Amino acid sequence: MYLYNSATRKKEEFTTHTPGHVEMYTCGPTVYHYAHIGNLRSYIMEDVLEKYLRFAGYDVNRVMNITDVGHLASDADTGEDKMLKGAKREHKTVMEIAKFYTDAFFEDCEKLNIKTPDVVEPATNCIDEYIKIVSTLIEKGRAYVAGGNVYFDTSTLDRYYIFNDHDEEDLAVGVREGVEEDLNKRNKNDFVLWFTKSKFEDQALKWDSPWGVGYPGWHIECTGISLKHNGEYLDLHCGGIDNAFPHHTNEIAQSEAYLGHPWCKQWFHVHHLNTGSGKMSKSKGEFLTISLLEEKGYDPLSYRFFCLQSHYRKALVFSWENLTNAQGAYQKLIRRIAALDPGDGDTDAAVVEDYKEKFLAQVGNDLNTSMGVTLLYDVLKAPANGATRLAVLDELDQVLSLSLLTKAAALRQAEAARSTASGADGCVITGEGDPAVDAMVLARWHAKKAKNFQEADRIRDELKAMGVEVTDTREGAAWRRV
Ligand code: AMP
Ligand code: ZN
Repeated sequence: MYLYNSATRKKEEFTTHTPGHVEMYTCGPTVYHYAHIGNLRSYIMEDVLEKYLRFAGYDVNRVMNITDVGHLASDADTGEDKMLKGAKREHKTVMEIAKFYTDAFFEDCEKLNIKTPDVVEPATNCIDEYIKIVSTLIEKGRAYVAGGNVYFDTSTLDRYYIFNDHDEEDLAVGVREGVEEDLNKRNKNDFVLWFTKSKFEDQALKWDSPWGVGYPGWHIECTGISLKHNGEYLDLHCGGIDNAFPHHTNEIAQSEAYLGHPWCKQWFHVHHLNTGSGKMSKSKGEFLTISLLEEKGYDPLSYRFFCLQSHYRKALVFSWENLTNAQGAYQKLIRRIAALDPGDGDTDAAVVEDYKEKFLAQVGNDLNTSMGVTLLYDVLKAPANGATRLAVLDELDQVLSLSLLTKAAALRQAEAARSTASGADGCVITGEGDPAVDAMVLARWHAKKAKNFQEADRIRDELKAMGVEVTDTREGAAWRRV
């Protein structure tokens, strides 16, 4: 596979520390609110990447953190704690908020066919790990205590701006954020590893540490969790593009200072989902959720399809019109798959293999998911029997996860189930495929025709009690479950 590496700013051949095995880390959600569909764009693309690697034969260990402590409202070391803000808003404890929104996040993931990572670790579970790393960094002279907090000393680094060529002045916290600079810092890019003092209202969750009772900074959690579950050599680190600076930059600084050797090889950043008025953002409070899409009648998998149609390194503009178009195209695709006959011939394994190779090559060019989607249409047109084309689609869907075969089978079944029963006198009953109900509806129709209204009403009441609604049609009657 060839993948763009944000650290080298080049498309490179994907390699791993241990051949055939990928250690993969994903920055997880900050659980103070629902995930918005922008966040979920990142998780969809990372899910496809993981599944692609497995499909290509790698064995993958994927780790994700849950940020339930320490992420401040600004991405710099300023502002209130996001979890505390969420708890205040909803009059709940921080842990209640974390549990509620973690569950909500995984429910959304399930609706979008996003696989749960092998390891999911809440940040509050690994306090000992952070304390160990921070103590070592102080011992090594890479971190210092000032004003009650522990800071990483960025002046000890050979290179700080890993991902971009930002002008140092532009990124100076005080200038960029328009906030008061933290005077405890020796250098303006230094960042907090452990807080015991904050000029904002204090975190509710605190732990004992060699530097006093306090809580970890945001960046240290990803280093701690990754070292615990991925080991010392990470192959692939993922996140949205806004995580690149300062979060990932700081992760690299502290991890390599702690380990004393290079840490992560490959950095994968998903660009943003934007609305007409700019980036969709949780902290701005205006955002779209998967539940809202469902309420408006969209299938969550139409949103997945929408995301797969564009490249992860391009900003994606969301509009209802774009989503409606994607939903139309997705439903049409399912209808075309449903029209394939599973009983048409034997599966030709050579054809399946051929398409697998094509898919690996095309999607393997920097995770080109839209080429993967295009290939689905090529398969539909392929000169192969129904069973073979369905087998190919099933294979490719292991990576794309659009539920192609299950949705097509359900559609086929629903169509077949649009049963009809007819009486000797030419009356036609259409329904949802239950011969017993068909027979009752037919009996009601005959009773009505014979002017036996008492019997007709009795049957209608019985059907109603079974949750079946009957309407008269020109040829007879139709029924559906309500
Ligand atoms: P958070 O819950 O804010 O920590 O963000 C979870 C993930 O979503 C991170 O990887 C972010 O980089 C990513 N993210 C945040 N906003 C967007 C957006 N508008 N589009 C795509 N990804 C985003
Ligand atoms: Zn992270």
